[in-house]
Amino acid sequence: MTTTSAMLDFQIVPNASSMPEADRLKAFENLGFGTLFSDHMAVVRWHVDTGWHDAEVSARKPFQVDPAASVLHYAQEIFEGMKAYKAADGKITLFRPEENARRFNLSAERMAMPELPEEIFLKAVEELVKIDAKWVPEGEGSLYLRPFMFASEAFLGVRPSREYIFCVIASPVGPYFKGGSKPVTLWVSEHYTRAAPGGTGAAKCGGNYAASLLAQKEASSRGCDQVVFLDAAEHKWIEELGGMNVFFVMDDNTVVTPPLSGTILPGITRKSIIQLATDSGLTVVERPYSFEEWMADAKSGKMREAFACGTAAVVAAIGTVRHPEGEFVIGNAGTGMETEKLRNQLTGIQRGSVADPYNWVKTVA
Ligand SMILES: *Cc1c(COP(=O)(O)O)cnc(C)c1O
Repeated sequence: MTTTSAMLDFQIVPNASSMPEADRLKAFENLGFGTLFSDHMAVVRWHVDTGWHDAEVSARKPFQVDPAASVLHYAQEIFEGMKAYKAADGKITLFRPEENARRFNLSAERMAMPELPEEIFLKAVEELVKIDAKWVPEGEGSLYLRPFMFASEAFLGVRPSREYIFCVIASPVGPYFKGGSKPVTLWVSEHYTRAAPGGTGAAKCGGNYAASLLAQKEASSRGCDQVVFLDAAEHKWIEELGGMNVFFVMDDNTVVTPPLSGTILPGITRKSIIQLATDSGLTVVERPYSFEEWMADAKSGKMREAFACGTAAVVAAIGTVRHPEGEFVIGNAGTGMETEKLRNQLTGIQRGSVADPYNWVKTVA
C-alpha cells in the first residue's frame, strides 16, 4: 500500500478551446475570489493496487464520479491553498510551495488517505502554472491554486477508500475581502466550535469547513465578516478563524498567537509572520490566550493591534470584535503600524519587491 516516490511523467494536453485573450483580459478587470477559472487542470489518480498513476495536465472539465463515491457520503477530502504571483520582472513565482506539499501529506495521514510524494504535488502545481501562466494577473492580483484529493471509490461501507483523485485547479483572484484591506469585524461564536482535541482541526479538510458554515452564517447575520472560534473543551481560549490564524500585538513589543495544539491549522502565513516579526525585533509568544484576556487587553489599551492571516486574505487587520454580550474595538480600530509593516513585508517578498533572505520564493516560469 505504500506509494513509490518515483516521479511520474505528466502527460500535457493543451486545451484546444482556451478562453480568448480579449475575454480573459475583460474578466481580469473585475476579479473576485474563486469565481473565474483557468483553462487547465492537473489530475493524478491513485488506486490501492497500482499507487499513483495517469498524471496529466489537460483542459479543465467536470469529473465523472459515481453517486456512491465515498467522498459524497463520508467526506474523505483534503485540500491546500497557495498562490502564483507575477513579479515586477515578469517571472512567475510560488511562495514556499514545499510547505504546502508537506502539509498536504499531514492532512492525508489524518484522513487515512494515501501519501502523495511531494515531488508529484509540486510537479502538478508547477506544470499547471506553466501552461496557465497567462492566467496569473499582474498588479495586486494572483493566481490562487487549489490542490485537493478526494475518495472516488464507489462503496458505501465505512472504511478508507481504495481509490482517490488528486487534482489542482487555478483561479485568478483579486482581494479576498470586498473593499480591499479594510479592517474586519469578527463574531465570537457562543455555541459552535471548529475543532476538538483528537479531531481534525489541524488537517486541511473540507469537513472542517462544512462544520463552520452555520457559525459563519450567524456571523453574517450579526453584520460580521468572519467567526473567531474558541476551544471546544473549555470554550475559553482563542483558537482561530474559519480559515485564518490570529495574532495580537501588545504595547510592549510582544506578539501573541495561539499555539499549535492540534486543534489549530498550522498556517504557512502564520509560520512566515512569526519569522518576520521575530527578525524585526518583536517577541513572538505562542501561548494560550483567553477571550477574557482579549477583552481586558483591548479595553486597557495593552493590545494595540490584532490581525488574521492566511494565503487567501494575506494579512487582515481586525477592527471590531462582537459577541453575544456586546462588542469591543481593537486599538485604533484596525489601522495598526505593525500589522501594516508585516503585511507589506510579506507581500513584498511574495511579489519580489522586497529581498527574500529566507529563500521562500520559487520561480517556476
Ligand atoms: C488554510 C487555513 C489557514 C491558513 O493557512 P495558510 O497556510 O496560511 O494559508 C488557517 N486556518 C485554517 C482553518 C485553514 O484552513
